[in-house]
Amino acid sequence: MALLIDGKKLAATLREEIAAKVAVLSARGVQPCLAAVRIGKDPGALSYSQSQAASAAALGIEYRLVELPEGQDMAAATALVAGLNAEAGVHGIMIHLPVPAGFDGVKLQQSIAASKDVEGVGAENFGLLAMGGAALVPCTAAAAFACLKSVKPDLEGCRAVVVGRSAIVGKPLAMLLLAANATVTQCHSRTRDLAMHTRNAEVLMVAAGNPGLICAEHVSPGAIVIDVGTNRVQVAGLDGRTTSRLVGDVRFDEVANIAGAITPVPGGVGPVTAAVLMGNTVQAAGNQ
Ligand code: NAD
Repeated sequence: MALLIDGKKLAATLREEIAAKVAVLSARGVQPCLAAVRIGKDPGALSYSQSQAASAAALGIEYRLVELPEGQDMAAATALVAGLNAEAGVHGIMIHLPVPAGFDGVKLQQSIAASKDVEGVGAENFGLLAMGGAALVPCTAAAAFACLKSVKPDLEGCRAVVVGRSAIVGKPLAMLLLAANATVTQCHSRTRDLAMHTRNAEVLMVAAGNPGLICAEHVSPGAIVIDVGTNRVQVAGLDGRTTSRLVGDVRFDEVANIAGAITPVPGGVGPVTAAVLMGNTVQAAGNQ
């Protein structure tokens, strides 16, 4: 049975490190501040912002939920972000997605000053990461990488396969692996014979958003499997009722019998991602 990579435990360790950095900043009279912009009434964004507020408070980080008043348009949202960019007391900015029709969430993200782009979703941080500079790394990619490093600190020369090539997860993950001197293969929806590639992996990182995509035949014995996938699926119970369940891209029950180490979903990459956002905020405050 594979070693279980416990994301909650890893997140707790990261939070301790973050709290120590907050203490150093506060001794210099700086309290890191994260401004989260919410547009509309998406219930997911509401619960996410509540949990962010709690995590920030526990770490001594100021959390400011900035809501665009109803009836406003994209120009007003852009002006709101510009105002936060200019405000010295705000060190990090993020946009809650999805945004309602008529707004362009990606465009808003790109309007965040690079030094305050704590989700690492802007082109400048992407470029810095690609060039090996001091970037604010996209939170989920950084979290998946931290899960991997917790069980394999030295990645030099290792065969790593990333499934997924999105700009916020798959590509930055490949860049982090390259920077750590792994030999990286990137697979995606047009890859032919996915299993042929993934079976070659010593490290398999999956961010496809495709529930159960990776099964036993995709994994070689002893491989480290990091499952970024977070998919809500409907499952029929014995009583005939369906319930909603969170699953990854990896068939955990099958793969855990073959892999050397594996992250569960939930309880793997997810909790670490939340901690990384706070860590990036503190990094941004330190830089500024
Ligand atoms: P995305 O849809 O932007 O990208 C998915 C990628 O997977 C694409 O590059 C696509 O080519 C590839 N892909 C899809 N089906 C494939 C297949 N059958 N074979 C090979 N490649 C395939 O998604 P994303 O934003 O990168 O997110 C990926 C997953 O990670 C989703 O499940 C998402 O919910 C999850 N996620 C988790 C967190 C977290 O904190 N744990 C955060 C962000 C995203």
